[in-house]
Amino acid sequence: MPKLLLGTDNRGKVAEYRALLKNLPYELVTPAELGLKKEVSESGRTFKENATLKAVALATESGLPTLADDSGLEVEALGGEPGVFSARYAGEGASDGERIRYLLKRLESVPREKRRARFCCVIALAGCGEKPELFSGECRGIIAFEPKGTGGFGYDPVFYLPELGKTMAELTFAGKNRISHRGKAARKAARRLGTGCGGSGR
Ligand code: IMP
Repeated sequence: MPKLLLGTDNRGKVAEYRALLKNLPYELVTPAELGLKKEVSESGRTFKENATLKAVALATESGLPTLADDSGLEVEALGGEPGVFSARYAGEGASDGERIRYLLKRLESVPREKRRARFCCVIALAGCGEKPELFSGECRGIIAFEPKGTGGFGYDPVFYLPELGKTMAELTFAGKNRISHRGKAARKAARRLGTGCGGSGR
């Protein structure tokens, strides 16, 4: 089976992609499994730019078709923050719990009706066609006042879905994949990957 490199070692993302892409005729491998140590600096200003930077750098390094995503949380009351800085919001090396506490602190005096937010995911696929190709998905919700649930990763415990009455972290693994930003983007990428990978695409 041909290999497809997942351009991330984030355990939460890897688990979700393994499930979302499981029906495709590719063996999914991670940079760590290949012994790739390439650090790609996320210097872009948008999810699209960063996803493309990661996918192209890793496809070039590995010689494999590569799927990389850049994703994050945009909070309306914070003017779209943390956006592309979602992973670094409470400083480099902070834990998911510290990032959540920092976010809740920033929203301390913001009432429920002004806590609208969305998760965004942009997938870049490189090494599969002439040029990198992009697929995106978003999921809308509200930032809760306190964390709830143990599933998922990152900001999931404070991302409340009004129509389900649950946070993202209270959904089952399959339930999150059905409605999430990553699930939506991955299903589009999967349709493309299903047609096969031909050109150099870098
Ligand atoms: P990056 O795409 O590796 O730059 O990091 C994205 C960051 O956004 C993650 O470290 C999380 O903090 C957050 N994030 C992205 N997707 C999700 C998700 O599905 N749930 C919760 N947090 C997420």
